[in-house]
Amino acid sequence: MPPTPTTIAELLDRYDGLLLDAYGVLVDERGLLPGAAALFAELDRRAAPYAIVTNDASRSQATWAARFARHGIIVPAERIVTSGSLLPGYFRDRGLAGARTCVLGTEDSVAYVRAGGGVPIALARGMELDALAVCDDSGTPFVDGIALAFSAVVRAVHAGRTPALVLPNPDLIYPRGDAEYGFTAGAMALIIEAALARRFPGRLRFDHLGKPAPHLFAEARRRLGGVRVVMVGDQLETDIAGTHAAGIDAALLAGVSRWDPASGIAPRYLLATIEP
Ligand SMILES: [Mg+2]
Repeated sequence: MPPTPTTIAELLDRYDGLLLDAYGVLVDERGLLPGAAALFAELDRRAAPYAIVTNDASRSQATWAARFARHGIIVPAERIVTSGSLLPGYFRDRGLAGARTCVLGTEDSVAYVRAGGGVPIALARGMELDALAVCDDSGTPFVDGIALAFSAVVRAVHAGRTPALVLPNPDLIYPRGDAEYGFTAGAMALIIEAALARRFPGRLRFDHLGKPAPHLFAEARRRLGGVRVVMVGDQLETDIAGTHAAGIDAALLAGVSRWDPASGIAPRYLLATIEP
């Protein structure tokens, strides 16, 4: 069935609350996007439950809350569900306490790994690792970072170890504004994984934590007490694809993706704007 054009006001009439993607919906690299301030005002006016569900693993929930506060928007930190916030649970579940971990990303990315018991190591030639966390393109030199990380994984395998490879943010690209895009963590991991597949066929894959995997949606719903929500996102293959498996309806905001029937991914709704 083709998606139905709708508005934020209609969605708020039909559902109890919203799950909101961050990049390309509320913010881009330059700041708040048009309509975001009005959307938050409307959510407050209706006292509608919402959560921000982002694949970003470069900022803590507190850093995100501070970022919104600079624009005069008060978002409680617990309303912000980042893919990075799944890292501590991943490290605990995989028994990675004490694992020497190469973190490609920011200081907040490093803090997420540390919170799970991982021991972040300095990115350097000759480093020895037990785990690799590819969190973000910022905070790390892109090409040198993936080369150093790849080399360390190869050395570990040659030494008889199988390092854990974790990718909180599988996004390949992010919007920079004015129809410009940047490459981010998913693209970095893809390069590393492709090179490892040539060297060690079928042996080393990244564990994905963020959308479209169901973990973030499940965590956001849990925090909102299981109310009926609709996801608003701008990327078909992450924001929209993941909602089908999670049993959530989705609205695509035209942005990074435009709806294409050939994609095989059908949002229930299309939004032209987040202005309520
Ligand atoms: Mg987005």
